[in-house]
Amino acid sequence: MEPSASTSHHDATMRAVFDVVLPPVCPGCGREGEVLCSSCLVPLRRRVNEPPGIPLGLPGDLPTGIVQLEWCGAFTGPVRAALHALKYEGERRLEAPLGQALAERWRRVAAGGDVLVPVPIHAAKLRERGFNQAHSLARVAGHGLGLPVVGGLERREATVAQHALGRGARARNVGGAFAVRRDLRDQLRGRWAVLVDDVVTTGATLAGCAAALEGAGVLAVSALAVARER
Ligand SMILES: [Zn+2]
Repeated sequence: MEPSASTSHHDATMRAVFDVVLPPVCPGCGREGEVLCSSCLVPLRRRVNEPPGIPLGLPGDLPTGIVQLEWCGAFTGPVRAALHALKYEGERRLEAPLGQALAERWRRVAAGGDVLVPVPIHAAKLRERGFNQAHSLARVAGHGLGLPVVGGLERREATVAQHALGRGARARNVGGAFAVRRDLRDQLRGRWAVLVDDVVTTGATLAGCAAALEGAGVLAVSALAVARER
């Protein structure tokens, strides 16, 4: 290592070295050898061949502004463990199987969509984690689907109390305010955006993103996630 190399470069280099030296350990079952073993891939791919739309037994309402919402598996067991290992342990080798599952599900059920837009994380979180998991997953999915990825959304802290806002503004204020980057507006205007995220919970984040995209002249907004939490 050269003495002039930055710390982050050093960390990245060390990680690359460990990736070669250390065999992956499946986060779902602890078995050594594969980044996500074939048994733990089953729950991740459980919904791949299901028809589009929201199955019975789950809240059927789409988040405001979202025309189609799809996901790969429930946010439990190995799926949850894999997303946790990606986000909090930086096991980025998981991006491949998780992103490929996204592509597979979307290829099967998409009603439309011509650009993938990752759900953004706060700038502070991005600095701390070093990557936005939604963006990395979108990159793998976009590669598989032949769709461009435009990281056109930004996330800021919500600064205004909810009760002080009208209905539309309230949706925008939920879970942080979302805005479309000025420099990427042209790549989104008039297009059908597909929001990509790791986990969908209440859908408030997706609604906030959809409102911002709509304000920037996006034609329609769909959403695709690895997992859904009831
Ligand atoms: Zn496993």
